[in-house]
Amino acid sequence: MSWGCRILKVDPERPDEASLRVAAEAIRRGGLVAFPTETVYGLGADALNPRAVKKIFEVKGRPPDNPLIVHISDWEMLGRIADEVPKAALKLARKFWPGPLTLVLKRKKVIPDEVTAGLPTVAVRMPAHEVALKLIRLSDTPIAAPSANPSGRPSPTTGSHVLRDLDCKVDVILDGGETYFGLESTIIDVTRNPPVLLRPGPIAVEDVEKALGERVMVTDESRGLSHAERPLAPGMKYRHYAPDTPVVLVDVNPSDIVTVVESAVRELNKLDWKAGLVGSTNLIWLVVGYGLRKGRMPLKIYDLGRGEKPHVAARRLYHVLRKIDEHSLPAAVVLPFPEEGIGLAVMNRLRKAASRRVSG
Ligand code: AMP
Ligand code: MG
Repeated sequence: MSWGCRILKVDPERPDEASLRVAAEAIRRGGLVAFPTETVYGLGADALNPRAVKKIFEVKGRPPDNPLIVHISDWEMLGRIADEVPKAALKLARKFWPGPLTLVLKRKKVIPDEVTAGLPTVAVRMPAHEVALKLIRLSDTPIAAPSANPSGRPSPTTGSHVLRDLDCKVDVILDGGETYFGLESTIIDVTRNPPVLLRPGPIAVEDVEKALGERVMVTDESRGLSHAERPLAPGMKYRHYAPDTPVVLVDVNPSDIVTVVESAVRELNKLDWKAGLVGSTNLIWLVVGYGLRKGRMPLKIYDLGRGEKPHVAARRLYHVLRKIDEHSLPAAVVLPFPEEGIGLAVMNRLRKAASRRVSG
């Protein structure tokens, strides 16, 4: 493992070629590079080099049975690593790549077991970010990359998050500012029939179904509601995205406003209102309004924007989960979002980040 790294600022739209060459050289030599994508920052290594891939697991403290997503820059690379590309996969790739959609496909033998945790499949994605695409192209190899944070913590959405999280235990950090979506990719397993949603993300299941012309299976696991003994996607069994501060999620349908407000107030009362309050603008102000009438106020308010615009909440989510720790609050109460579009992903992450859920 190398200690001490090069931090190179890059323009996310027109990245400087010299910086990318330094990073690509690190990848080709079996090193680690943190880089921006349109979802979150990735911690990348040459996907065909098992020793390089092992370093990712060491640096993140990631359990070895949690497989990695392999990032490609063009269609030719897909042919190098995937054994079979079913019709459904082609339809989705044509429609959403480059973009925040990961497809689980049968793998070729060149992909080492370290990447796939020994599975016969590989998760693949073509990111929609100039820095990521050019880095892969210049490295001339697919890049395996999970999020660039210690396992279990909120994912990094800025270069400075990466630096804080990884403490320079990588060779190069490409700092391209803030990522666009702020949440990890949608994962669809197209080796199953019907296709299965393994993780909700920026591409809505509704849009995947429209592109496929068929239904996609959405399990309780992918909504973050249950932890199966033998999960469909191995990483699903782990707690994720969690700040140190205890997080209580009010897991009630947000259209049931009365129950949401009553539950939140009950939880805040238990905490003597010494807590942060996280949620959409409309719900937050209903809870705060109630508190003010009783002369109470939460310690800190984290407004994730209007409930009907969940992509704004998605983009702010990890910032807020990190801020909660920085503000050293005793606890945070989080209000729910509708599970539509990217809202499904927001609720999945909140359920996994929560230390406790209350449902009315
Ligand atoms: P992360 O790198 O943290 O974004 O997580 C990647 C996730 O992709 C893992 O936790 C798995 O849930 C999923 N994944 C990766 N490879 C496979 C695979 N071959 N089959 C099923 N799920 C996978
Ligand atoms: Mg991750």
